[in-house]
Amino acid sequence: MTQVVDDTTEPQAPLCGVLAIQGDVREHVQALSRRGIATRAVRRPEHLEGLDGIVLPGGESTTMLKMLAFQGLWDPLGDLLRSGRPVFATCAGLILCADDVQSPAQQSYGVLDVSVTRNAWGRQIRSGTFELRTHGAAGLPDPMSGVFIRAPGIVAVGPACEVLATREGQPVLVRQGAVLGASFHPELEDDHPVVDLFVASLRASVGERTVADTTS
Ligand code: GLN
Repeated sequence: MTQVVDDTTEPQAPLCGVLAIQGDVREHVQALSRRGIATRAVRRPEHLEGLDGIVLPGGESTTMLKMLAFQGLWDPLGDLLRSGRPVFATCAGLILCADDVQSPAQQSYGVLDVSVTRNAWGRQIRSGTFELRTHGAAGLPDPMSGVFIRAPGIVAVGPACEVLATREGQPVLVRQGAVLGASFHPELEDDHPVVDLFVASLRASVGERTVADTTS
C-alpha cells in the first residue's frame, strides 16, 4: 500500500544570512554549514529577502557602518534585526546591535539593551582564549571558552537583556529576545556551544513559523 506522507508540517531548512561586507564572514559560514544550516552572503538589500535569521560577524564596526550606509543596507537590515528572527552578533556585530557605543561613540541599532566600550578587553596583543562562566544559563556548559580579539566590553546591561556568560565577572554574552550578542568569537572554535545555541534558535523559529503558517 502506498503511504501518503503529509509533509506540510515539516519544518523547512533554515536559511541564515551572514552580513558579508567585512570581517570574519567565512568562519561564520563554515560554522553554520558544519551544522547543516544553509547560508547566504548579504551585501545588498535584496539579499535580505526570505532569510530566517542573520549573523553580524566580527571585524571593524566603523568600516561596517560606512559600508551599510553606502550599500543602502542600514534601514532594511534594521527591519530584519527588529523582526524577531534570530540574530547572532559577534564582537563588531555586538557593537552594531548595542544601544550605546563608546570609545569612540558611533551609531548603532539598539536591539540589545547594552552599553559597550570598544576595544575594552585590550588591543591585539592581549587577545586570546579565556575561561567564561555561564552558571548553566541557556543550558550552556560552565565553564566554557571564549576567543577575544580587540573585543568590546559590555559596561551596562538594561533589564530587557539577559546575561548568559561572564569573563572575570563582566558580561560577555547577552540575549534579548531572539538577538544573541557575544563580545568574543564562538565561530572561531570547533563545536562551540554558543553557535549551537544560535542554530537551535534558528531551527525553533523556522519550525514555529511553519506550524503557524499551516494552522492559519
Ligand atoms: N575592535 C573592533 C571594533 O571596534 C571589534 C573587534 C572584532 O570584531 N574582533 O569594531
